[in-house]
Amino acid sequence: MPQLYDQFHGGENTPPRRTGPAGSGYPMTPSPLGRRPHRERRRALSLAPVLLILLVLAAVLTLVLWGPSDAPPDPSGAVSAPPAASDALATAGPTPAGPDGSAAPTPNNLRDITAPPWITQEFLPLNEWSRPGDPLPQVNGVVIHYVGNPGTTAEQNRSYFERLAENHEAYASSHFLVGLDGEVIQCVPLSEISYCSTVRNADTIAIECCHPDAEGKFTEETMASLVKLVDWLIETYDLGREDVIRHYDVAGKECPIYYVRNLDAWEDFLDRLTFPDP
Ligand SMILES: [Zn+2]
Repeated sequence: MPQLYDQFHGGENTPPRRTGPAGSGYPMTPSPLGRRPHRERRRALSLAPVLLILLVLAAVLTLVLWGPSDAPPDPSGAVSAPPAASDALATAGPTPAGPDGSAAPTPNNLRDITAPPWITQEFLPLNEWSRPGDPLPQVNGVVIHYVGNPGTTAEQNRSYFERLAENHEAYASSHFLVGLDGEVIQCVPLSEISYCSTVRNADTIAIECCHPDAEGKFTEETMASLVKLVDWLIETYDLGREDVIRHYDVAGKECPIYYVRNLDAWEDFLDRLTFPDP
């Protein structure tokens, strides 16, 4: 099964890896008890259970403080991230779900937004890896990404997000996927955060676009749908030109790669959008 997600996205939303304590803390050297005189040995033996209990308590306390070291492998390890991105890690990871794993309450104003019919809503199942259900309290911008996996469809990328609930490879998702033929799939409700834009997860809508090759340029079908989608979001949230940004503008990642390397192409895209009069 091919990897359907690029290395530029997968690791960035992973909370900082916590290195657990090494070893159990139990002494490995042979006990010197056998060489002691009888009385001293008995005193030492009576202390042994107390020592054991102290060690167990210390181990439990360490586990509570540090938690199990079960962070997923970081697929972005090969990518040199700027300092800003690593700062983002501290705030971009998931927040704890409710005790029953259910979604947190969502604000009504965002929940009431009705998507236009050309958007196919296929919401991910609630899970801490791609749809944590955390509320998105406000929308101050739209962040554009590329999927980073040439030739894959919007539906395949949505499936990748869904499988994260099982394989725990990364924390990743976006609100929308725009496909090679211009199809638009919504994966996460607008009232909830997605895991795509690090520090801006909490106040932006994330859109990932498919692309036919490694250059990362969107097809005209993809671009036309992206313009339609972003225009709708601009109108819905009363956004300005400065509020439509690239992942690069948030975290310095080369995403969407073609529109980072070709600023003219990015400006051309912005020029196609319809912004409200100032
Ligand atoms: Zn991105």
